[in-house]
Amino acid sequence: MIPLEEAQNYVLETVQRLDIERVSLLKARDRVTAESITSPESIPPFDNTAVDGYAVIAADMQGATINSPVSLTVLESIAAGTAPEQSIKTTECSKIMTGAPIPEGADAVVMVEWSELGESENCVNITKTVSAGDHIRKSGEDLLPDDLVIPEQTLLNPAHLGLLASVGIYEIETFRKPKVAVFSTGDELIEGSQSLEPGQIRDSNRFSLIALLERDGFQTVDFGLVADDESAIEETIQKATETCDAIITTGGVSMGDYDFVKIVLSRIGDMRWMQIAIKPAKPFAFGTVNDIPVFGLPGNPVSSMVSYELLTKPALKKMMGHVKVFPTFLTGETVGDFKRREDGKTHFVRAVASLEEIPPKVYSARRQGSHQLTGMAEANALVVLPDGEGVSEGSSLMFFFLD
Ligand code: AMP
Ligand code: MG
Repeated sequence: MIPLEEAQNYVLETVQRLDIERVSLLKARDRVTAESITSPESIPPFDNTAVDGYAVIAADMQGATINSPVSLTVLESIAAGTAPEQSIKTTECSKIMTGAPIPEGADAVVMVEWSELGESENCVNITKTVSAGDHIRKSGEDLLPDDLVIPEQTLLNPAHLGLLASVGIYEIETFRKPKVAVFSTGDELIEGSQSLEPGQIRDSNRFSLIALLERDGFQTVDFGLVADDESAIEETIQKATETCDAIITTGGVSMGDYDFVKIVLSRIGDMRWMQIAIKPAKPFAFGTVNDIPVFGLPGNPVSSMVSYELLTKPALKKMMGHVKVFPTFLTGETVGDFKRREDGKTHFVRAVASLEEIPPKVYSARRQGSHQLTGMAEANALVVLPDGEGVSEGSSLMFFFLD
């Protein structure tokens, strides 16, 4: 058996980042930038008001209170999207709406809440003092021309996209997202609700794996169920290498007599067959066929999902340009015992983790068999249980969320 880190390093050293693709902003979320972007202009582009109110000269407002308001002449009303026509001199002001440019001469804005109608239509009484700069959003206070907006290899979030739109950039170079082929193998597998013949089970791995891939933002191509037959398996793999960036197979990679995936991949691919010191997901095959990475995941339903989380997902993330490819590990406190036997492996216990308390609490899911999807379905986290006899209630263990 080899340590998990050795298998992970081997996979990550083999896979390469995909090519660069120019995409429009609305297609760019959750992609990683392949260029750094500097701002062509200032944001805000001009000094403007953060509130509805009156653009004034702060010095005129000294001593203004509700009992002794300062009376000003109103020159005009400035709407957002229009340019002021008049400049402000002492004892004058202009009515101004949020986002409108500050008129020349004014150095502060009084909120409309601190004003009362004056004696005549073009008079207003201000009931509060202000300081120079109050409620003015200065040109360039968010970005100046040539400021770095987004560095290379940034995972784009919705705010990044808004930021790019705000400086007039609508297309961006990003790393392409991998398109991943998925197929299941095994003569025992069927799809459908017809009754099972002796020895048959229903294929579940393709459904959980395709869902995992889509959850993580990868494209998927479903190559279906492939029989335990050398030529069928070879044909499927060859076809998948022509159209996809990575291939995931499940089943047929361990020590059984009918593990034809292993036979075919050994012949047509450059593969490494591993026994990893973890439970579940000990058997794992990885290599390339026609330079396309192939992940041979174990057949047991829980194993295939855990293998995906620990080995496939980090690799696919590297391919689409991510810098951080591994999950974030947190420390949780066990509720109930986490018992096990010493077997030379690190166990990844299916668990429910809760952040409602500090420290976070972790509970073991009820069923821990590598064939028991009910335990995986109940879980929202995997807890790392080191080799040994396990731990009792109230112990600290590392875990990560399955998301
Ligand atoms: P294998 O790795 O092919 O020896 O399969 C290990 C176990 O996982 C066996 O019990 C298989 O029946 C089961 N298995 C393999 N592939 C699937 C699948 N796609 N869906 C559900 N169970 C599977
Ligand atoms: Mg099989």
